[in-house]
Amino acid sequence: MAPGSKDTRHTLAASDLQAAQEAQDAACGSRLTIDTGAIAANWQTLRERVGSAVVCAATVKSDAYGCGLAPTVRALASAGCSTFFVALPQEGATVRREVPGATIYVLNGLLPGAAAHYAEAMLRPVLGSLAEVEEWAVFCSSRKVALEAALHVDTGMNRLGVTVEEARRIAADPAMLATFRLSLVMSHLACGATPKDPFNREQLARFKSLDGLFPGVPRSMANSAGVFLGADYHLDLVRPGIALYGGEILESDPLRLRPAVKLEARILQVRHVPAGAGVGYGRAQVTNRPTRLAILSTGYGDGYHRRAGSSDIRPGAKAWLSGHAVPLFGRISMDLIAVDVTDVPQDLARRGAYVQLYGPDMDMTQVASAAETIDYELLTGLGRRSLRVYGPLSGTAVQGDW
Ligand SMILES: *Cc1c(COP(=O)(O)O)cnc(C)c1O
Repeated sequence: MAPGSKDTRHTLAASDLQAAQEAQDAACGSRLTIDTGAIAANWQTLRERVGSAVVCAATVKSDAYGCGLAPTVRALASAGCSTFFVALPQEGATVRREVPGATIYVLNGLLPGAAAHYAEAMLRPVLGSLAEVEEWAVFCSSRKVALEAALHVDTGMNRLGVTVEEARRIAADPAMLATFRLSLVMSHLACGATPKDPFNREQLARFKSLDGLFPGVPRSMANSAGVFLGADYHLDLVRPGIALYGGEILESDPLRLRPAVKLEARILQVRHVPAGAGVGYGRAQVTNRPTRLAILSTGYGDGYHRRAGSSDIRPGAKAWLSGHAVPLFGRISMDLIAVDVTDVPQDLARRGAYVQLYGPDMDMTQVASAAETIDYELLTGLGRRSLRVYGPLSGTAVQGDW
């Protein structure tokens, strides 16, 4: 791509842009709208919630939960966010390009033999085992520069992190610690999404038992759910992910975070089927009344979960058509989904109209739960094939015959 070409869009007249989008719309069966403004607004809401004494970082791993890493971090940086958590050094390098001054932590730690890559992009590994601590210390010694890193302490999740005992041993080795600069000590909650679970307090207590061992080093415990557990969990830095993208945090959302993603698919055709007709593969669902079905141009090949389909035994997810919740009917195919529009006025359910599969009117969390998964997985599987549009979710859809 030519230098500066990503800015070409800004020089196009609005009418050219609209024409270009309509042409693309006509060629795509589904459209994914991502509102990075909502992501930035959600970050600001969380930042206000934790107060100015606490750093509010942003977790942008897995392509910013499927929303697009580069546009997401640009929006977050404009809103004032300067600390980012990614999973991999490769993601970190993208954040570095977009936000040259950012502080970037790599949650999967120090990948073996990759220290030079971290140094080059000024990425801070979240050191998660003694082997990683040693490798970073040796690398920094050989370069004769004390590069920043975080230390991950496991307080009961048994995934990544040194044990509390190992953390004590590290703290007792000032010569080794002096080879790099410890800029954060963190841990991760296993049950944050269940506020009543006593394990949250237990993990916090274990983490706090290290207080004083690493003087002056900021501490972090809270992901999105941890932010909602209360100020005890905020410590010096919070690192929300899912809440930024409008995923569900708690059943009662006290902050009114905004949805940031909308998936819509076009109606290819509307068909009338009699009672007693099987629909789709396996005839998994049979009509029990004369039924009007809208056939949508999207399917599991676009990242919509097949498990959210419907059968005679188990209802599936719902979609949204101009003010009406419409149930999925039968199994989901690779490229097609059927929805029951019998109860929707005929002028709304027509060829070319858009149906919202999730977004402001159809809660992503409910769709995820119909598919027996979580919104995190819906998000990270977003749109391999949909037309991707960045802008407000309320934008008017191009509708009508095509
Ligand atoms: C993914 C992740 C986060 C962000 O979690 P959310 O639940 O999306 O807010 C924070 N910390 C760690 C260690 C993570 O792996």
